[in-house]
Amino acid sequence: MPVTPSIPESAYRGRLAPSPTGRLHLGHAKTFWTARERARRNDGALILRNDDLDVERCKPEFVRGVFEDLKWFGFDWDEGPDCGGSLGPYNQSERRGFYLDAFAKLLEAGVIYPCRCSRKDVLRALSAPHEGEEEPVYPGTCRPAHDGIAQEICDSMLPSLLGRRLGLTDAQGRRINWRFRAPDEESVTFDDGGFGRQRFEAGKDFGDFVVWRSDDLPAYHLAVVADDHAMRITEVVRGKDLLTSTARQLLVYRALGWKAPEHFHCPLVTDESGQRLAKRHDSLSLKALSENRVAPAELRTDW
Ligand code: GLU
Repeated sequence: MPVTPSIPESAYRGRLAPSPTGRLHLGHAKTFWTARERARRNDGALILRNDDLDVERCKPEFVRGVFEDLKWFGFDWDEGPDCGGSLGPYNQSERRGFYLDAFAKLLEAGVIYPCRCSRKDVLRALSAPHEGEEEPVYPGTCRPAHDGIAQEICDSMLPSLLGRRLGLTDAQGRRINWRFRAPDEESVTFDDGGFGRQRFEAGKDFGDFVVWRSDDLPAYHLAVVADDHAMRITEVVRGKDLLTSTARQLLVYRALGWKAPEHFHCPLVTDESGQRLAKRHDSLSLKALSENRVAPAELRTDW
């Protein structure tokens, strides 16, 4: 029987959730520092989760780099892949069971449907859509006319779900992805800790999004909701480029009947031309800064 750890309902739990697809840069450090400060101020716990879903882009040397960079910068955490904790595992690649359970609930709730499109958003679905990576609204090519999916699809899926594998081809052997149906014209509103009241409209600001891919990998939005819920995260601190993703995820929480965490979005660190820092800004990677003997405390002077 699973042991439920005794974490008081009221306890603040925040998280750092880097994806080891490259070295961390100053932009990550700034958002993470806000997460750390908020956890401290609330006398809470900080959880480090290794978001290594994207098997092709995540590399062991980047995982090592994440630990190295975070420690150099002065971060510490209470639970994580290196120090354990009662709500692990803390590597997404080891959490498939949580994602399958969430998928089965969405299937039963009738809010997802099979999609045979091979579009760019399907390919990108493993990673958070950061600035400049927002997908176009899905035109609804595979969307069923009515809410809910055909009972026979649901019935045919359940045995493979119980066997913990998804049957990801249809009767004709075509590969299928699964999409979450974002109800038309539904507006999602939330009070963001950093940017105040937010409002997004499904069908306009975002469309039906992928939750499981035909190569049998869960997509970012499903994984992050399943993890933040299971790890009892009470506040998600992330960059402002993920505001629309938060709106999508709030719909997933609702469909699963789970209480959503609070959200606090942070301004992005940009270069002189206003572009969000990314891997191409090598000189602002934490690795380069440490090699150049820049002191982390100096970098944080006006944070
Ligand atoms: N691993 C994701 C990223 O680095 C997490 C984003 C989030 O959900 O806050 O983009």
